[in-house]
Amino acid sequence: MTTPVYENFINGHFLKNQTGDTFAVTNPATDEVIYHVEIADEFIQNAAIESAKQGFAAWSAMTPIERSRILLKAVAILRERNDGLAKVEVLDTGKPWQEAECVDVETGADVIEYFAGLAPAQVGQQQMVGNDFYYTRKEPLGICAGIGAWNYPLQIACWKSGPALAAGNAVIFKPSEETPLGAIKLAEIFIEAGVPAGVFNVVQGAAEVGQWLTANPNIEKVSFTGEVGTGKKVMASAAGSLKDVTMELGGKSPLLVFDDADVSQAVSAAMLGNFYTQGEICTNCTRIYVHKNVYQQFIDELKTRTEQNIIAGDPMDPEVNLGALISKKHQELVLGYIDKGIQEGATLLTGGKALSPASAPNGYFVEPTVFVDCKDDMTIVKEEIFGPVMSVLVFDDEDDVIQRANDTHLGLAAGVFTKDIQRAHRVIHQLQAGICWINSYGNSPAEMPVGGYKQSGIGRENGIETLDHYTQTKSIYVGMSNIESPF
Ligand code: NDP
Repeated sequence: MTTPVYENFINGHFLKNQTGDTFAVTNPATDEVIYHVEIADEFIQNAAIESAKQGFAAWSAMTPIERSRILLKAVAILRERNDGLAKVEVLDTGKPWQEAECVDVETGADVIEYFAGLAPAQVGQQQMVGNDFYYTRKEPLGICAGIGAWNYPLQIACWKSGPALAAGNAVIFKPSEETPLGAIKLAEIFIEAGVPAGVFNVVQGAAEVGQWLTANPNIEKVSFTGEVGTGKKVMASAAGSLKDVTMELGGKSPLLVFDDADVSQAVSAAMLGNFYTQGEICTNCTRIYVHKNVYQQFIDELKTRTEQNIIAGDPMDPEVNLGALISKKHQELVLGYIDKGIQEGATLLTGGKALSPASAPNGYFVEPTVFVDCKDDMTIVKEEIFGPVMSVLVFDDEDDVIQRANDTHLGLAAGVFTKDIQRAHRVIHQLQAGICWINSYGNSPAEMPVGGYKQSGIGRENGIETLDHYTQTKSIYVGMSNIESPF
């Protein structure tokens, strides 16, 4: 059977490369190649820059209201096509349909809608300085590059293009080579909605294509989502032409469960924050610190619910709530971490093995896994695993647990469960993380800025401040009287 071949999306249409080089994309739930994609060779790369230059000229000349109107059409199309787009995401990522159907497209559309509404409201300042005055303009940056990870491919493309386009920029987007189709679908939707050709381009390929974007002097900004190590390379490369950067990187986030917490709610949060999207979420609370007075109750309920309520299998089955990991390689990496946890002395409360569900026997599944008897210096407690692996630790002192929670070079997210309102805020204010939840975990609405402290990131996505990351301020001084000159 022949599979489709997708070309790069440049200047409003698909464009064939010259080398003929392609890569294959595999469905993680079946281990079958589902389509091929052409790699962006030099011809495509040059065409992408030319296309984005022309796109920028046309798009930045429109008023924010005109841009907003067009972007809102794209939002409407995204919503109309929800199910088809969700299916693309399920087949590319291996995540459950029951998630993609109500989260991936929806949260992507929300962000474009949010920034489309906000862009016309962005204003400059003016101030008198003596008889003269100055005013400022918020101008777009030019061509922005977006580089995405594979866990929420369409959502990431929307989260990066929403504010960039609303502010009048052009975008060249590179999705992960493991999940390249969602961004192409978004590019087609933008064209249908009336976004001029060249404003949103998609280039395909692996690290080399990403490296080309980060080094290219025509590109003013890189917004990157991926691992900390890759983020460092991207930033170093972007420094060569002093590009602006936004970095959305990895985490090893703590969830603190105090002894006055609603334990069942805390278990729900811990399961959502470790098993949703089979654990492949950057903000996951993979270090769960539970107060010793409720520890036994917490792990008893956690074990029962994990063993009874999780259904792994064909991700397109609406009953399935645990999908396949992105690749065989990643499955092996996650299983390697589990072995390391056992070797270093942690105890498996449940899970720990690869899974081969009857409805998807060849998929890259890993059982939802919970470790207890964990110590702060174990590898599974220190390193991001990016799979369904939770480490549970015990505490009995507030100051001590805050210090332990902060003892990491990462700082993406954190959570606290307690019914004591003062403790909730006191503790959360001391946690070194950019995205925090009290008696909740994981929600990330368009209105709320998200991004990391420490090595988990730079800059923010979503929320009002993100528009500033896609504009630059021009100050204009206006002389109202004769110039006094000594010359
Ligand atoms: P990677 O860092 O491996 O890759 C991210 C993207 O960068 C991919 O498109 C990749 O291409 C590309 N890339 C790889 N090397 C380079 C390079 N030298 N220069 C430019 N681009 C490059 O991350 P993953 O895709 O494995 O994603 C998982 C990671 O993403 C986790 O650490 C997770 O925490 C993080 N993440 C963070 C989020 C946040 O908002 N903070 C959200 C989602 C994920 P290719 O893959 O095609 O080789």
